[in-house]
Amino acid sequence: MIVKQIWTANSYRNFNYLIACPETGEALAIDPLDHEKCLRAAKDAGWNITQVLNTHEHRDHTGGNDAIVRATGAKILAHKNAKDKIPGMERGLGAGDVIKVGKTVELEALDTPGHTMSHICLLSHTDQPALFCGDTLFNAGAGNCHNGGHPSELYNTFAQQLSKLPSATLIYPGHDYIENNLRFTLDREPDNAQAAQMLRRLSGQDPNQAYVSTLDVETEVNTVLRLSSPTVIAKLREAFPELPEQPDPKTVFLKLRELRNKW
Ligand SMILES: [Zn+2]
Repeated sequence: MIVKQIWTANSYRNFNYLIACPETGEALAIDPLDHEKCLRAAKDAGWNITQVLNTHEHRDHTGGNDAIVRATGAKILAHKNAKDKIPGMERGLGAGDVIKVGKTVELEALDTPGHTMSHICLLSHTDQPALFCGDTLFNAGAGNCHNGGHPSELYNTFAQQLSKLPSATLIYPGHDYIENNLRFTLDREPDNAQAAQMLRRLSGQDPNQAYVSTLDVETEVNTVLRLSSPTVIAKLREAFPELPEQPDPKTVFLKLRELRNKW
């Protein structure tokens, strides 16, 4: 499996992806908003885009579909419940469905509601797994729930699925928000030395050569995965004095979301 991360350099800071089979040159494009960059990257590498996967229905993820389909005849895949929201969708995905790319690549669909209620993450079947997580998991953060999402569903997605993936899983998010998210981590957890060190190292990084984290790294720097951190809980109590002595993780998650929305 070859992964090409494409930085769009737009104001939404989207990352698009091409996933290619090294044997056949067939490729799947994930959320190819910047269709020109995606088509050029495929051409330069000698790949044929045969499938487009939309992680969810938001326009900054689907906006390049028509141009890619016109240029390549690729088939559009997305969550099965997105069929009325994504024009031209040909394959609806549910949990556990496998997408093949060429001869060598297998990607498993995870049904990951929360950012929207029809959001798919893809997990590669490779020695070191890779997770293409759209707007669900970001580096040091998570997607908002403002446009068709639900915070408690997002919590369940993290608690029941994403946090249980192998710790070496590579994280490929739909946007480059790492700097701002690390600042939020440090706002909530000023003693998080790893987040501070990472912010120093990655401030002003070239998103064309973006740092790729793992789930293991995220558990150190992402508040969404640090719901039992004593500092996170103590700082949260400053904002929410009624917080119980031993709050359950879902309460911590939801309160952190409230603060993040106002931050
Ligand atoms: Zn979105």
